[in-house]
Amino acid sequence: MSKRISILGSTGSIGRQSLDVIAACGMSVAALTANSSVGRMEEQARRFKPELAVLVDEKAAADLRVRLADTNVRVLSGMEGLMEAAAISSADTVITAVVGMVGLRPTLAAIREGKRIALANKETLVCAGQLVLEEAKDYGAQILPVDSEHSALFQSLEGNKDRGEVKRLILTCSGGPFYGKTREQLQGMTREDALRHPNWSMGAKITVDSATLMNKGLEFMEAMHLYHMPPEKIAIVIHRESIIHSLVEYCDNAMIAQLGSPDMRLPIQYALTWPKRVPGPATPLDLWNCGPLTFGTPDLDTFRCLALALEAAKAGGTAGAILNGANEAAVAQFLAGEIGFLDIADKVARAMEKVPVVRDPGLTDILEADAAAREAAR
Ligand code: NAD
Ligand code: MG
Repeated sequence: MSKRISILGSTGSIGRQSLDVIAACGMSVAALTANSSVGRMEEQARRFKPELAVLVDEKAAADLRVRLADTNVRVLSGMEGLMEAAAISSADTVITAVVGMVGLRPTLAAIREGKRIALANKETLVCAGQLVLEEAKDYGAQILPVDSEHSALFQSLEGNKDRGEVKRLILTCSGGPFYGKTREQLQGMTREDALRHPNWSMGAKITVDSATLMNKGLEFMEAMHLYHMPPEKIAIVIHRESIIHSLVEYCDNAMIAQLGSPDMRLPIQYALTWPKRVPGPATPLDLWNCGPLTFGTPDLDTFRCLALALEAAKAGGTAGAILNGANEAAVAQFLAGEIGFLDIADKVARAMEKVPVVRDPGLTDILEADAAAREAAR
């Protein structure tokens, strides 16, 4: 397939799996970006020969420039470099796989160039969903979900012409590594405990979000924005096996689902090849040996982050940016060993109490809400 791709966050979990898909499907790479991983970026640049390689960290970028001196790869640094990689003219598609709200401005830059956005960076939609989708409409940029649940919803909605026929979207949730635990048991959970996800191997931040179930709350808001659904038309079901990636329930009570092995390369690939399907590297699902599929109800009292996210989803405006900013700050503190597992929800709750919600926010309101929430969480 002759597609030319720019990857924001190429050294991370989604970034590396995207490169697997690109190699397997014969696509090419226009630009690669990462925060500071020099060694990994050098390897990727030598193998995929992009025009541009960006490391946000200045020192790391200077090191990379020396290492790649014998190649034609241009090396840039900082937010400026990230913006250039997002808008690079030779790419038709930009994969947004950076972690956190830092992805917002580059995503907007790619949209303004009319690129297809293969969107993994869910924090961007949680903070600024309305703004991002309006800009995408104005500039004719398609946004295709990389998140497995949203890709499943996308695939389950494809045959549907009239959104009025949709009764609800049902997001599946693995329950994470702490499924079934009580608040007392959660009290002592460490960074290492939280980083042990049963089904998926992912970056540290999203793995902690999967342990608190904040990830499902962020995905709830992501689904509201992507599919223009009010919160009362989205439900969450615990499905420990991560085989059914999400479902759409229609008004006649038919449920349409997408199934597959827990392998992100499938949703990544579909975001790149849609509306076509091509053979790819994702692991096939062996239905005959995958065992029984189970379903349950999420425990909102124990996993308070999910309850807080549902509250923010209902509140709208800058509530998503406040929730997300506080969560990013709190998860960073948890990963640094500075706070306990249950403190994450406490900090998010405190920020939501303290920072006022602004309706119909512009970019400045969103950035201010994010900064105030981080401050309140600290
Ligand atoms: P990761 O931590 O493995 O990788 C993050 C990438 O972003 C790296 O390349 C890193 O260098 C770069 N980065 C980090 N901080 C940055 C900064 N401040 N500025 C610029 N670049 C920075 O994360 P991941 O698991 O690949 O997740 C990436 C995004 O995809 C997240 O938004 C996550 O929620 C979403 N997502 C991930 C998965 C998954 O399976 N990993 C699934 C669904 C959605
Ligand atoms: Mg997901």
